[in-house]
Amino acid sequence: MGFSDRQTKMLEEMGIRVWTRPEPALVPEPEPITALPAAMPPRALRPGAAPVPAPEPEPTSAPMVSRQAEVPVRMSPVPEASGSRPTGVETMDWPALRDAVASCTACRLCEGRTQAVFGVGHERAHWMIVGEAPGEQEDRQGEPFVGKSGQLLDNMLRAVGLTREAESPERQVYIANTLKCRPPFNRNPEPQELAQCEPFLVRQIAMVQPRVILAMGRFAVQSLLRSAEPIGRLRGRVHVYEGVPLVVTYHPAYLLRNPEDKGRAWDDLCLAREILEAAG
Ligand code: URA
Repeated sequence: MGFSDRQTKMLEEMGIRVWTRPEPALVPEPEPITALPAAMPPRALRPGAAPVPAPEPEPTSAPMVSRQAEVPVRMSPVPEASGSRPTGVETMDWPALRDAVASCTACRLCEGRTQAVFGVGHERAHWMIVGEAPGEQEDRQGEPFVGKSGQLLDNMLRAVGLTREAESPERQVYIANTLKCRPPFNRNPEPQELAQCEPFLVRQIAMVQPRVILAMGRFAVQSLLRSAEPIGRLRGRVHVYEGVPLVVTYHPAYLLRNPEDKGRAWDDLCLAREILEAAG
């Protein structure tokens, strides 16, 4: 699935090349914007036991947005998971999925959680934001992105007229993580954990049916695109996940550490907005 010929033509006219992954895939990135650059231009802008390749450091001076198609770096297959996950996730409705996530014991992360962090937002949102995993605050409050990274994410969303608060599906986003439970000491997710948790995110996306997905950071990219490419090389062009246009951007935690890349994150938001506008 992908864009219609008309949508593709419009995107190409804007200088945006549509890239479809040759096969479905997963991997890890540094993390989350406290505030977008003051002088922001008002314009545009899949499981197992095999180890995930070591993350590449994010470029600190990546080139400006390149909207060129590139050959993706393929990831090793993820090893078979050993935990027990609820069955029938792919047909669950929202309440059942919520319950399944809340009671999941498919990996050892359940042992250390205060609670699983399901997701928040409009259940038919046009924009879906996919992050990494809950941190301390999220584990405590049960909502994704409520710590410092979340403040920056909220600022980013506000800059393009979006919110996590109750609104129309055009304006209220849906936010979910690749992992629903907090890894100890906020360590990187492990391949088996990602594999066990993936069906929950897949089901969330299937039910929200977003018009655009914003994948923040390398773990979201690993889960959705199965690419080990660094974020800096994946952003700036349109990917497709199960027929849904997907834009890759830096994780807010990464942007907190590397504020010089906030401008690029702004470009990514603008690209996602352009996609929605082109789709009509
Ligand atoms: N980082 C994420 O990726 N998700 C959260 O919910 C919090 C921090």
